[in-house]
Amino acid sequence: MVTIKMLEQSENEIKLVLDKTTPEFVNEIRRASMFEVPTLAIDDVYFTQNSSALYDEMLAHRLGLVVLKTPKGYNLPSECTCSGKLCAKCSVKMTLRAKGPVTVYAKDMKIKDPDVKVVHPETVIVKLLENQEVELEAVAILGKGLEHAKWNAGHVYYLGMPEIEATKDADAKTVLENVPIVEKSGKGLEIKNIAKWTEAYGEICQKNGFVVKNSDSQFIFTLESWGSKSPQEIMSEAVEVIEQKAKNAKL
Ligand SMILES: [Zn+2]
Repeated sequence: MVTIKMLEQSENEIKLVLDKTTPEFVNEIRRASMFEVPTLAIDDVYFTQNSSALYDEMLAHRLGLVVLKTPKGYNLPSECTCSGKLCAKCSVKMTLRAKGPVTVYAKDMKIKDPDVKVVHPETVIVKLLENQEVELEAVAILGKGLEHAKWNAGHVYYLGMPEIEATKDADAKTVLENVPIVEKSGKGLEIKNIAKWTEAYGEICQKNGFVVKNSDSQFIFTLESWGSKSPQEIMSEAVEVIEQKAKNAKL
């Protein structure tokens, strides 16, 4: 039975210790979190006016990468009651209208659903000079990172819990000076603050006569959200995805 301990959490990042598990299962949580938790992103842009220095395609690409806060309740178009016709339950419309000279930011978009918000309002879309103009309508839909990176919910990485053992050439003094989060313990070193451990610290230990082994049953797991959903939401939706897959596999 997997046990989970929270090491650190902030608005956009959680760091956990996953214990009594396997590399395969931890990797499955990573993949589900990054590629199968749906988020909203702009997928279609209809231009009525674009005399900016950027081609329509470039502007559409930039808009696609704008991170949108994804509220609960939206369906994937393929699973929606409208059968993918893009109704209000599976898509959200927004408009952008600007006339130069001006810098156009993501926050200048008028979004139909007030619960859908731009996560980084100061994202620059385009700079317009005198007499340049942009007028467009965009449609954001739910999608998965599996299909395109713009729907990626966040970034996940993990590391087997390090166990540090001394060899006969171990230079503990140098390591203790350069790795402030370890202390001597038994035959090796013990990490006092696991949340702050990095592979760079591991290299310092190895260069100074210690062997660093990474556990294959206990992991330091970090999930960083891009802001469309909270890291906790991403994690629990990823687990649901895995549960659903396991159920389907049994049939
Ligand atoms: Zn729909």
